Amino acid sequence: MQTTDILLTNAHILTMDEQMNQFNPGAIAINGDSIIAVGPEAEIKKEYAGRETVDCGGSLLMPGLINAHTHVPMTLLRGLADDLRLDVWLSGYMWPVEREFVSPEFVRLGTQIACAELIRSGVTTFNDMYFYEESVAKATAEAGMRAVCGQSVLKFPVADADSYEDSMEIARDYIQRWKGHPLIIPSIAPHAPYTTTPEILRATAELAKEFDVPLHIHIAETSFEVENMRNENGMPVVPYVKKQGLFEAKVIAAHCVHIDPGEMRTLLHAGAGVSHNPSSNLKLASGFAPVMKMLETGLNVGIGTDGPASNNDLDMFEEVRLAAFIAKAVTNDPTSLPAATALTMATRLGAQALHIGHLTGSLTPGRRADLILIDANPMHSSPRFYRDGNSAYAQIVYASKSTDVSDVMVNGKWLMRDRKLLTLNEKELLAQAADMAKKIDAFLIEREQSVLSKLIALGGSTEEESFEVQVKVKIADTHPIVEALKRPEIEIIRYRHYKQHDIYFAFEDTDQGRLRYREDDFLDEKGAVTNTRPRLTLLGRKREDKLAHDVLLSRSRFLAPATQSPRFYREYFKPKEETLITKDRERWLVKFKDTEFFVNVDAMIEPAIGNFVEIKSRTWSRTDAEHKAALANELLAVLGIGNSETVTKDYIEVVGQ
Ligand SMILES: [Zn+2]
Repeated sequence: MQTTDILLTNAHILTMDEQMNQFNPGAIAINGDSIIAVGPEAEIKKEYAGRETVDCGGSLLMPGLINAHTHVPMTLLRGLADDLRLDVWLSGYMWPVEREFVSPEFVRLGTQIACAELIRSGVTTFNDMYFYEESVAKATAEAGMRAVCGQSVLKFPVADADSYEDSMEIARDYIQRWKGHPLIIPSIAPHAPYTTTPEILRATAELAKEFDVPLHIHIAETSFEVENMRNENGMPVVPYVKKQGLFEAKVIAAHCVHIDPGEMRTLLHAGAGVSHNPSSNLKLASGFAPVMKMLETGLNVGIGTDGPASNNDLDMFEEVRLAAFIAKAVTNDPTSLPAATALTMATRLGAQALHIGHLTGSLTPGRRADLILIDANPMHSSPRFYRDGNSAYAQIVYASKSTDVSDVMVNGKWLMRDRKLLTLNEKELLAQAADMAKKIDAFLIEREQSVLSKLIALGGSTEEESFEVQVKVKIADTHPIVEALKRPEIEIIRYRHYKQHDIYFAFEDTDQGRLRYREDDFLDEKGAVTNTRPRLTLLGRKREDKLAHDVLLSRSRFLAPATQSPRFYREYFKPKEETLITKDRERWLVKFKDTEFFVNVDAMIEPAIGNFVEIKSRTWSRTDAEHKAALANELLAVLGIGNSETVTKDYIEVVGQ
């Protein structure tokens, strides 16, 4: 008779091992952090005596669930912004709020809240990616959970680093200190191919290889990502990252929604694990991952919740059920992804996907004691059948709820007994979370007050203080003007020809000004587009002042790089109405009487309201403006236009400055 620390008896044990052994009634012997033996109760009791023996009362006993992809600190951003497209959600809300609020303390609190939720729902291990990941690691270890904690690396400044080199330093230092920890597996997380560079992918893979730790990355989450990858690099996402040497490392690829059979084989040969995230893919309408194909290929596919801001919970019971349901619907085959397979993905396969199959994922002697007890007899999963061994899996996947989890053990230590958390104080955490939410709410309320503050929140905007003298005249034909520009009084400094597409966004409150999204298609002599330049400008509501000669002074304005699509700005700024204007513009920078002017000759395409000539010059004072206005009118005369009487007021009203 051997004495062990803990003996769990009278349980219906689902080992989730290779043979899918079940023991009912079964028992399990635990010593220190590991499982010593598992089997029929009678046999185990004959061989082992526990210092502590726990009668499980007929509950289901299985390995703890493994959340294969998440961003746990984002519990603090849960419910902040929903029902948005991925780019608006990320660039419009998550990133600005993260830039403002994310700190080691924020990450610590968010992780503690996540751990409370995860333990309650039967999760014992998760795979994370965020900023200040060492704070995630610390809070997780204190809560007693197991996790693969990946320090993020991106190509732009983020919450915890001004540059990618800084992120690499942080990651190296963190991995060095946490490598070998009993609960935490440190890792590195280049966020995604589109938020990194080939250099970053190479450097992170090398670091992961050097320390033999996993590398966590988002792969092929949206078709948009794949389309861009094909356009820019002539190949889909998996071959691209392979080319950068990513598979030198032990890769954990989150999503893989849009990959083909060839890419699946590449992942298999590279020994990469995959995390399937059904809720996140459904909520963000990312598409349906080819889960059955990936499993048939032989890939280790785990299941993840993704971040709690895009799910919005960390409930693996829901995730496993969705994985099974979606696979059936997508393949039009109810035999696809049976309950036992879905549950294997959330346990043994998940552990293998995280490259920690030797530690956890099944109730096997030698593995760590990471296990959960599930109440087998609540009304919503009664009665029970024993004829078919698969009934127990079906009961858990299709009927059990995360709230049926009563007890959780990780690494041989109880984290929850009889639904009471032993390592975290929920009441305190809830109060702190409410406090943080109040601060974030106030920040967003302030920001939402004006179009300008929303523009600034996107980052990179600059104020242009200069004022402008501007004369605009409707003309019948552009040719005489082009000819007149060759006259000796006019010196041509520069010429450009482009097609200009403007979208003017107008708002309920006209004091907010108007936002112009402008795309200039530069044209060569043959009229072919050489390159396109998008810009975003917030224009003052009306002209600052009106001077003699029908000349306008325009307001100062804000410029921002237009890195997103018009659709993004439409969804982010929510304008009341839009006006589309397209014109063919020839633009000369000329010198006339020692003063520089821009002469724009426009043929209006949309709306087709004729041709215009526009003379513009920057100015800094009223006297200078009056002087330039007079000169502009003289220039008009030289160009063969009598005076500016012909200015079409309506047109000015339409396009503003
Ligand atoms: Zn994610």
